[in-house]
Amino acid sequence: MQQMNFVELIVSLRAEFLHRSSSRSRDTHHDKTNRPSPRRKDMEQEEVISNPKASLRVAGITLLIFSIMLWLYRHNLNPVNYLFFAMLLLRFAGHGLSKTSLFLKEGLDTNRRIFARWGKIYSSIMALILVVLVLSATVYLQFSQQVGGNPGHYDSEHYHDGAFHNLEQPEDLEPSFFGTLIQYFIDDGSREPGSVLPTVAFSPLDLSEDEVGITWFGHSSLLIQTTNISLLFDPVFGDDNTDPLFVGPSPFAYKHTYELEDLPEIDVVLISHDHYDHLDMDAIKHLSDSLYLVPLGVEAHLVEWGIPSSQIQTFDWYQEAVITEDLNVVFTPSQHFSGRGLQQDNTLWGAWAVYLNEHALYFSGDGGYSEEFVNIGQQYGPFDIAFIEAGQYNEAWADVHMFPDETVQAAIDLNATTLLPIHNTKFVLALHGWDEPLEEVTLEGQRRNQSVTTPMIGESFVLGGFMPEEPWWRGVTVYEPPILKQNPFVGAAMYASMLLAIMMIRHRSPAVVIVMDSPK
Ligand SMILES: [Zn+2]
Ligand SMILES: [Zn+2]
Repeated sequence: MQQMNFVELIVSLRAEFLHRSSSRSRDTHHDKTNRPSPRRKDMEQEEVISNPKASLRVAGITLLIFSIMLWLYRHNLNPVNYLFFAMLLLRFAGHGLSKTSLFLKEGLDTNRRIFARWGKIYSSIMALILVVLVLSATVYLQFSQQVGGNPGHYDSEHYHDGAFHNLEQPEDLEPSFFGTLIQYFIDDGSREPGSVLPTVAFSPLDLSEDEVGITWFGHSSLLIQTTNISLLFDPVFGDDNTDPLFVGPSPFAYKHTYELEDLPEIDVVLISHDHYDHLDMDAIKHLSDSLYLVPLGVEAHLVEWGIPSSQIQTFDWYQEAVITEDLNVVFTPSQHFSGRGLQQDNTLWGAWAVYLNEHALYFSGDGGYSEEFVNIGQQYGPFDIAFIEAGQYNEAWADVHMFPDETVQAAIDLNATTLLPIHNTKFVLALHGWDEPLEEVTLEGQRRNQSVTTPMIGESFVLGGFMPEEPWWRGVTVYEPPILKQNPFVGAAMYASMLLAIMMIRHRSPAVVIVMDSPK
């Protein structure tokens, strides 16, 4: 006699229950006629599945799932829903595969066979996803021009073991992985502005001699002009993503668009490091006639993109150069890292001290706070203005990006008359509110008596003249949650749906048991 396993037992018990309770009359008829019923078991199973009570239960589960998703959305946990969607897709893919004859195996008992088959189905899907990801990333890194050139080895005291190194190895922060993950999942929608950002149309300044004109285009892109020369720092324009893959964040919606064609002819382009949000291939290709001042190693990317070596000057830390009669520069260290492909730190990163006529300017690039700011301030300060990164910070990477209070401290260390916070208001690369850097740096500046200037994006102003201090972002910070999120009636309906769903599920109904494999 064939031994019955657990699944078969449940099927037969439930079928028996259903058969007795809901099909009594037909059973009686069958009994009376005493006819054998060869398809009886199949019919019973169909009956279980097509039972209206079972359908009610399925509808209840669906309603409960939607209500829970709405609850997560209303409680700023929408990223959990993305995870849920991913799991649902995986489940569908698994279900699709289970309909095929793949991974069927004989020789094991049914339970173990079912378990082993589902294990194989899911692990195969995961392996396939991984292979596709790794393959596409490899193909991309191998063939995409965006990745740039292949930097060589450098005769620099900061280059050893095949990579550049920070002046001091930042402390191992040991950030909590789960803490950061939880932060990621709690998203109240404030990481991006709720509406199109008010900006100013770019128009060139009418400068008099010795005046320095400044225009900030969001993130770290900055135009500096005098009557004789124009400089562009870390130009990233257009709708490019911050990384080459389609998953990279898109820039915020600005009221005005800024194109390189609209800018005056650029004489000198200064690059802080080769991360995608600072070194943009399309911008470099567009600015093919400019002179480039770049950290060691970055020239490999530029050459790959068609800039002749004769137009590129490379810099190690604390290397100084006279570029023109009006322009002297020093490349100073920052505490950061670099890399566009698989290999990290194969090009140098840093900041620029720039002397234009009688004016001293400092451009930080990216970097965490370090004591080196004091040295730079003493050696190369005071500065009339310091453009310092304020944005994309997080406890988990606090060694390579500064918090707002550190940005202000850096400006004080550098001996900067005024501070213009950059590296914000364009991309979401961290988990803070989009306007938090501007707000916090402004408040900290007031507390520490450090002048902070906050021009609107695209607004041009003259250094030392009227310095824009309007907190323009406050007018747009009010985040208005959509009706689904804030409306109390939607909330009440959501809880009512949950109750209704639970009642539908708990309604006495036969369990739906689906036999995945018929025993052989
Ligand atoms: Zn960077
Ligand atoms: Zn950056």
